[in-house]
Amino acid sequence: MNNQTYQLLNAQINEELYSAYLYLTFADHFEARGLRGFANWYYIQTQEERDHAMLLRRYLLNEGKSPVMEAVAKPDASFKTDLEVLEAALEHERYITAKINAIYKSAQAEDDFRTMQMLDWFVKEQGEEEDNARTQVDQYKLFGSDPMALFNLDRENAARVYAAPSLVL
Ligand code: MG
Repeated sequence: MNNQTYQLLNAQINEELYSAYLYLTFADHFEARGLRGFANWYYIQTQEERDHAMLLRRYLLNEGKSPVMEAVAKPDASFKTDLEVLEAALEHERYITAKINAIYKSAQAEDDFRTMQMLDWFVKEQGEEEDNARTQVDQYKLFGSDPMALFNLDRENAARVYAAPSLVL
């Protein structure tokens, strides 16, 4: 692994921990709104983001590299409405996808096949993350203004359960 790939992977640990922290802020918004199901959705997102950080950390350790923990930034809490939260989540996942792609490019340029193979899981995961976030936005736009429909959306999100990542390192 070259130094640039190492630096990018190490920075990505911080990006994933920031994601976890951001999603806690989103959960807090929905807690305050009395939408515990939406809050549950983001608590589970937080767990997943922590998993992502731990996977990248384990990968560095497996490669004989030292992870360096940097400060995690204060989450952007400039949103006001439910829809703004859901849109911020989609925007954030697109940002993370770009970050993963940049690491992939760095690994690819150096024929770092092992890092590319590890990142394949993250590439696929980002597709799922964007799809989930987009679905949340679409459903809220369609149904969110109707109290009974919002109640049902909240119940649906309350049913989500945490599943450990399928990638084992
Ligand atoms: Mg992530």
